[in-house]
Order: sequence, then structure tokens, then C-alpha cells
Amino acid sequence: MTEYKINTKCVQAGYTPGNGEPRQIPIIQSTTFKYNTSEDMGKLFDLEAAGYFYTRLQNPTNDYVAAKIAALEGGTAAMLTSSGQAANFFALFNICECGSHIVASSSIYGGTFNLIAVTMAKMGIKTTFVSPDCTEEELNAAFQDNTRAVFGETIANPALTVLDIEKFAKAAHKHGVPLIVDNTFPTPVNCRPIEWGADIVTHSTTKYMDGHGAAVGGCIVDSGKFDWMAHADKFPGLCTPDESYHGITYAEKFGIAGAFITKATAQLMRDFGSIQSPQNAFLLNLGLESLHVRMPRHVENGQAVAEFLEKHPKVEKVSYSGLKSDKYYALAQKYLPNGGCGVVSFVIKGGRPAAEAFMKKLRLAAIETHVADARTCCLNPATSTHRQMTDEQLEAAGIPAGLVRMSCGLEDKEDLIADIKQALD
Ligand SMILES: *Cc1c(COP(=O)(O)O)cnc(C)c1O
Repeated sequence: MTEYKINTKCVQAGYTPGNGEPRQIPIIQSTTFKYNTSEDMGKLFDLEAAGYFYTRLQNPTNDYVAAKIAALEGGTAAMLTSSGQAANFFALFNICECGSHIVASSSIYGGTFNLIAVTMAKMGIKTTFVSPDCTEEELNAAFQDNTRAVFGETIANPALTVLDIEKFAKAAHKHGVPLIVDNTFPTPVNCRPIEWGADIVTHSTTKYMDGHGAAVGGCIVDSGKFDWMAHADKFPGLCTPDESYHGITYAEKFGIAGAFITKATAQLMRDFGSIQSPQNAFLLNLGLESLHVRMPRHVENGQAVAEFLEKHPKVEKVSYSGLKSDKYYALAQKYLPNGGCGVVSFVIKGGRPAAEAFMKKLRLAAIETHVADARTCCLNPATSTHRQMTDEQLEAAGIPAGLVRMSCGLEDKEDLIADIKQALD
């Protein structure tokens, strides 16, 4: 599928039925798989043969969809997870252990921040956060001898900062560790981080990839470019024998293209579960089949709404990297030439009460803890996800009380703007 354009891959990559086989991906709704001899099954357990034995580790439906996402991102292997949270945890924990250190952009999704700053810290994995706008010197200074990964989001949720992927990749590689990029907001239709030097790409497929608010899920894609063996001292989990798998050394047996995902499947899925259900993988694939058609419309609506808001007297500030006035416009031109996503953040004059009153008046846009849906939705962090914080604390965190995050859906942009206009009035 590598020779085809992304639009074709969205529709057809990952699954090619044989003669007389189902045209659509079959949902293999089975926890287990049958074998004729124990010997056959033993080979699977020893990773001597490829195949399925238990859906906690692998399922054919999931693998078809993962193969499509790998093709879209330009990677060599991928796995689906039960959520975006599981994808980011697995991507990091596959190469980090107690005593390891991570360098992460400070501008990331709140759930991921909590995962690494609080929960993974309890596992003895510490993180240094750097501003996505830091200089190369500041970035390099964040590394330690025990640093094992660098992490950032292409377009951060909800701050909408744009990551300078090449800058972060260069620093990661200089220190012999991979760059992991969460590419949830642009999707591979608008940016493919591997082409800019990222080594591992993660997704919350719950967002645009599914795109219909139907199924929670995640995905990890390996670029197959990071040479684990060249930094074997840093990655013993990949470069020394795994006694829980009969002494297999993943980087030797599965090579540069397969080691990362094989280890994540064989160890992390085995031990933690967190597999996506085949039914959800099927729904995700329906979303992927139209991803290349939907993303341009999300961008068109986001751009139109951002331009309208920017001119409105009741609006203090708009963040959208497609606006010439945006701090990230230049980076977006480089990494997101076809636009980023449909999410726009803006600050209404009058703070919390004004934001609340505005949202109450919206007719099309629903109030939801969600983004990247076909239906427009919005959220005021000060009265929902961040309601425990005072106005002063919100201001310090860069989330003013009047901030509204609006995820523009696939409706007609004139209807969306008319809705926003009457609510602001
Ligand atoms: C939503 C989101 C996540 C978490 O994904 P879930 O599927 O909700 O677990 C991670 N990263 C980003 C950028 C997100 O927007």
C-alpha cells in the first residue's frame, strides 16, 4: 500500500480480501482460537510462528485496522489499544522502567499530563517538562543519563500549541532516545510526524479517526527507524533476552521494524490487557474510511469560525494555528500545510459568567467533554474539567476563566457561525 496516496490508504489499506471473502473487515468476535495440536499452539506462545490464540493479546479484526493506521502514518507496525490513555502509557512503558526519565512538552492533554506527572512518577519514572517553545539549549539541558524518551503532541489538546517536531526529534536523537508524538488532533491526513523524524506515533482514535463519537480507542505506530541495538545499554527490555519469553531478544529476533510493537504486544498486552474490542476496531475502521474526506471539512469549519471570532468585539483572544495572527502560524505552515484540525479556543470578555451564558445560548454546539466529533461541541474548562481551580490559578495555567474550547464538526459553517453569533449577541 505504500505506493498509494493517503486518500486511497484511508479507504483500502490494511485488509485485502481473497476470492469470495467478505468485502468489509470481518468482526472476529471470539476470545480464543482453536488448534489441532499442542505443538502448533506452543509455537505461537514461543513467538516462533505468527497467529492468534487469545484476544487479550491479538485479534485479526484489530490487526487489519492497525495495519491501516500503520500505512497511513508511514510506519512498519502498529497495535490498537483500548483508549488513547493506554496507547500513551504503553508507548512510554515499553521503553521506561523504574529509575527512567522522560522529557515531555508541558503543553499536552491533561490526562496524559496526569499519567506521566503523577501515576508514572509513582512507578519511579520521573518527567521533566519543557515548554514546546523552548530553545534547543533549554531542550538539551532537560536530558539526564537516565532519559529514555521524549514526548509531545503535534497539536496540543487543549492549548493548540504546535510542536516543532524536527527540533524535538533532533534533541532526542542526539541523546540516543526516541521521540514519541501524539498525533491525535491533526491525524495522518494533515501531518505524518514520522516524515519529520518522530520514531513512535500514538493516537486517541476516540477523536477524529473514529470521528462519530462512537468508540473509545487508541493506537501506537512504530516508524521502524529507531535503532534500539545502537543504544542497547538504554533499552535492555528490547536488547537483552526476555526470560518471560524463553530468552527472546526482541530487537534481534524481530529487527528494527518489528521489535517495539512485538514487545508491547507480547509483554504489555499480556500483562495489562487494555486491548481494543474487535467491535470497536470495526467501528474505528468505518471512521477511517472517510477520514480524508472529513478532515478538510473540519479544518474549513474551524478556520471560518476562528476568523469570525477574531473580528468579534466580545471576544478577547482566539487560538487557532490557521490564523495569521496566531503564535503558531509559521510552524503550522510548515507541519500542517493543509490545516490542523477543527478545534478552536477563544476567550470571551467577561470571564466565567460570560462563557457560561454564551454556552447556554448555543443551539447547535452541545456542551460535552469531547472533541473531534462530526457534531460541533464545546467546553468551558473553568466550569467543568478545571472547576476546582480559582480564576487566579486558571490564569496561571494559561486557561483563563472565559476560555471556551470549541470543536467544529461537519455541519455547514454558515449555520455554525450563525449559532455562535446569536449566542454572543
Ligand atoms: C483524548 C486524548 C487522549 C486520551 O485518549 P482517550 O481515548 O480519551 O483515552 C490522549 N491524547 C490526546 C491528544 C487526546 O486528545
